[in-house]
Amino acid sequence: MIDVLIAGGGPAGLATAICCARAGLSVIVAEPRAAPVDKACGEGLMPAAVRRLAALGVRPEGHPLRGIRYAECGRADPGPRTREPDDPGCAAEARFRGSAGLGVRRTTLQAALRARAAEFGIAAGEPSIDFAGNQRRKVAVVDQLFRGLSGLLKGRKVTTLSGTGCGSGSSGSSLGRGDRRHAWALLT
Ligand SMILES: Cc1cc2nc3c(=O)[nH]c(=O)nc-3n(C[C@H](O)[C@H](O)[C@H](O)COP(=O)(O)OP(=O)(O)OC[C@H]3O[C@@H](n4cnc5c(N)ncnc54)[C@H](O)[C@@H]3O)c2cc1C
Repeated sequence: MIDVLIAGGGPAGLATAICCARAGLSVIVAEPRAAPVDKACGEGLMPAAVRRLAALGVRPEGHPLRGIRYAECGRADPGPRTREPDDPGCAAEARFRGSAGLGVRRTTLQAALRARAAEFGIAAGEPSIDFAGNQRRKVAVVDQLFRGLSGLLKGRKVTTLSGTGCGSGSSGSSLGRGDRRHAWALLT
């Protein structure tokens, strides 16, 4: 039983998958094409897209873009109206007001999205679940929570001992050095 099935492992599908996984949902992405999925693209991300990706933990390598410029030059069939690239008469230009955009290869963006999705155990391809990846993610989350709890207990001067506690009848309890990683006992 899965919570979400996403058809298509393009930017929209993978970003949605990452959002769902971060919300604790189980996700499968079905994508018929082999990685890296490529397509015709201007390969420029607007600043808002860069920020949204960063918020998802996706930071593809690329070239920062300070603005955008449309020029009429370089046409395949230069006509009488074609001018030099630096001629302001044939170009429209605007700078981004806030943060930068990013020039990034489409395949690089795809790889970065896939890598982030993989951290949640999501593979884009024939429907499947990466249980080992899921497990790694779970351990990372538990570790993080455990460290947070440990810090909290320390701050409250609670003694924590690493080991496995077990009851031994009415006489009391004992603590051994079990191999359960996150087991701990609080002794009063
Ligand atoms: C020429 C061109 C230039 C562009 N330049 C830019 C640019 O510079 N910057 C920018 O931000 N955007 C640009 N875009 C737009 C951008 O490419 C799209 O907005 C973006 O790809 C949309 O992402 P998507 O995931 O919705 O769809 P897609 O990227 O099209 O991904 C859809 C995926 O779904 C898969 N799929 C299709 N059907 C099924 C099915 N039935 N079951 C399962 N999987 C399926 C496909 O294989 C594909 O991998 C450009 C688009 C074009 C055409």
